Amino acid sequence: MPELPEVETVRRGLTPVMEGFVFDQVILNRPNLRFPFDPKFVERVQGQTLERLGRRAKFMIAELSSGDRLFLHLGMSGRFTIDERVQGEFVHNHDTNPKHDHVHFLMSNGSRVTYNDPRRFGFMELIAPGEPSRIDHLGPEPLSNELSGPTLRAAFKGKKANIKSALLDQRVIAGLGNIYVCEALYRSKISPRRMAGRLKTKEIETLVGHIKDVIAEAIEAGGSSLRDFANTEGGLGYFQHSFDVYGREGEPCKVCAAPIQRLVQSGRSTFYCKACQG
Ligand SMILES: [Zn+2]
Repeated sequence: MPELPEVETVRRGLTPVMEGFVFDQVILNRPNLRFPFDPKFVERVQGQTLERLGRRAKFMIAELSSGDRLFLHLGMSGRFTIDERVQGEFVHNHDTNPKHDHVHFLMSNGSRVTYNDPRRFGFMELIAPGEPSRIDHLGPEPLSNELSGPTLRAAFKGKKANIKSALLDQRVIAGLGNIYVCEALYRSKISPRRMAGRLKTKEIETLVGHIKDVIAEAIEAGGSSLRDFANTEGGLGYFQHSFDVYGREGEPCKVCAAPIQRLVQSGRSTFYCKACQG
């Protein structure tokens, strides 16, 4: 599942071919993804200039010249590919099954941006100016200055939930997913079972630093994989990371060699080192 760093990588890959250009043609190959498309989707997007392609949590947000915002969410398996027009013909150079190509955006610079999603958990949503949206109650972005020791401490005050689940609450931090919560807790040597409201000021400060580091490093890794990807395949969106704990149940801790443990919290797997995060 794409996490915040992957979404940010995709946004950076799409920006040069979409931002500042007009949607010359919008082709929908089906009426819905996870949710139905707006009945006027094509009408509302076609002919508009994409003024800015931003991101909030795991949403890419295309600001259109009409004032509408187009939210793009990759779900579990969504990916974008970019085909360039070479000598009047599109070079269809991605390796995904074209039967899962659900949306094509033909941009005024001659690029075709295709959305492919085999499992169809992704979605595209148009939000009119002033209309409420899914990002209205999100907490601060992990890399923003709004996320700091004091803000996190205030958010955790009196919280009886365990720190793992508290960090996944999108009202506390926007877009921080399961993988990066596990990694940040491991680096901070904080047990995922600890009660959020009981963490010490110093521990919270350490944790904030590691949250920012794991996200920033993953975005950086995405940037380098994006360069390879874009040069060779024209595909955007997925890359391999090496994680310290995530997905490593039974393998040795990189610090103390004890086997990494897995436990389930709020229905999600937590990976951690019992010895280091005691
Ligand atoms: Zn360890």
